[in-house]
Amino acid sequence: MNDTLILHINETNIDETLLSQAAEAIKLNKTVILPTETVYGLGANALSSEAVDKIFIAKGRPQDNPLIVHISNMTMLENCVKTIPEAALSLMHAFWPGPLTLILEKSDLIPSNVSAGLNTVGVRMPDHPIALKLIELAHTPIAAPSANRSGRPSPTTAQHVISDMQGRVDVIIAADHSRIGLESTVLDMTHNPPMILRPGGVTLSQLQMLIPEITI
Ligand code: AMP
Ligand code: MG
Repeated sequence: MNDTLILHINETNIDETLLSQAAEAIKLNKTVILPTETVYGLGANALSSEAVDKIFIAKGRPQDNPLIVHISNMTMLENCVKTIPEAALSLMHAFWPGPLTLILEKSDLIPSNVSAGLNTVGVRMPDHPIALKLIELAHTPIAAPSANRSGRPSPTTAQHVISDMQGRVDVIIAADHSRIGLESTVLDMTHNPPMILRPGGVTLSQLQMLIPEITI
């Protein structure tokens, strides 16, 4: 059992002193539940395999299910992936920050438990002021699957997160309900043509306006 610290933070008036406590926890390779615009995420330092292990334990998630890495700027992206194809760049310009996860070839900095042993990694920039600020203050990308226990619905409210995960993580950031309430679209950019692996907040027709060849 963890002694879970619950931080109530308002996204329209972020208390940086409180949020810094969550950022310190990330730096210490602890687990932090954070709000995003899609659903709440169960986050940890994406560059530490020890930190990422704690996500799988808290969720009871099978190790063969890869995690999405959340970033707040393009320098972080460059650290996470080997190359950024032109098509991926144009999608980032159109849909980031937002509910689109791009699968790219992973860099050696990303531990293999993040990607479930694959040589690719899913990356996205969330459209949420608390999530972006937390990543910035922690100075590291944050790996975060949805903050539910494996097999349960993805949480979109702080109350749901607290009742499901209190005692299983180090910190919970309790904020507003998730604006979109639907997971990110996962698009595999290593497949030619790019292929949607999971439908979500960005639709196929929105993506096809930029890249007509995209399939499901
Ligand atoms: P969740 O973290 O619960 O939102 O689920 C993340 C989902 O993203 C996984 O179930 C995978 O379907 C997908 N995903 C993440 N990374 C990869 C990857 N490298 N390759 C393929 N699918 C991925
Ligand atoms: Mg999930």
